[in-house]
Amino acid sequence: MTTSMRIMSKIICLFDVDGTLTAPRQPIKPQVEKFLFETVKKEFDIAIVGGSDISKIKEQLGGGNITEKYKYVFAENGLVSYKEGKKLPSETIQSAIGEDALQDVINFALRYISELKLPFKRGTFIEFRTGMLNISPVGRNSSKEERDQFEEYDRENQIRQKFIQALKKEFPDLLLTYSIGGQISFDVFPNGWDKTYCLRHIQGYDEIHFFGDKTEEGGNDYEIYQSDLTVGHRVTGPEDTVKQLKILSALINEHRAKELSNVPMQCI
Ligand SMILES: [Mg+2]
Repeated sequence: MTTSMRIMSKIICLFDVDGTLTAPRQPIKPQVEKFLFETVKKEFDIAIVGGSDISKIKEQLGGGNITEKYKYVFAENGLVSYKEGKKLPSETIQSAIGEDALQDVINFALRYISELKLPFKRGTFIEFRTGMLNISPVGRNSSKEERDQFEEYDRENQIRQKFIQALKKEFPDLLLTYSIGGQISFDVFPNGWDKTYCLRHIQGYDEIHFFGDKTEEGGNDYEIYQSDLTVGHRVTGPEDTVKQLKILSALINEHRAKELSNVPMQCI
């Protein structure tokens, strides 16, 4: 790679949604959105990778045309992908593990939930998505307050952890990954269909900078944060993401300025 190519190095910033660009399940704040589109996008391409389905990501990021506003939008870890507004082909969980095994998992999970006593329960315990099952012991219909309460209860009682252990014990041969994300649920998907899945769609960049909040082992940003294909940034929330983007931008500008000053005269 020549010096002049390095100066032109192409960078894309890839953001998790919940806890990174927005508070959990909340819409993006206007000042964060403004910063992304009026500052960051001028310097880098920007992309989104969320575990939720596309309608929830659209809801949180402010509407219909987000697939055109971001270079890539990856819903369900990239099983549902858009590049510059166009949908890319996708695989499904049922094609990967087979209908029979999938139904065994669903039946076991429903049975397990039916025997679980919690301070409260609401509805929608299993959400079927393109590339994963999202399982919520308390139910996805919980209100914001109930989500906060369950998160606290789960922290003390390890409801999700124990549920995952039971699934692993019941299905030792299925090549499935269990991943805790958000406040009330966990995802179940074929091995390798974590957020790194979306990286196969990203081409033509020298650096992919990933920003996520659940980067610890078992968190839904762990694999992509650790991946050799990305530069990982661990954030504590949207304000921290903005702060780290400012630092990244300053570092890169400094680096580019340095490289420019190092270019021999005949190369300019
Ligand atoms: Mg997150």
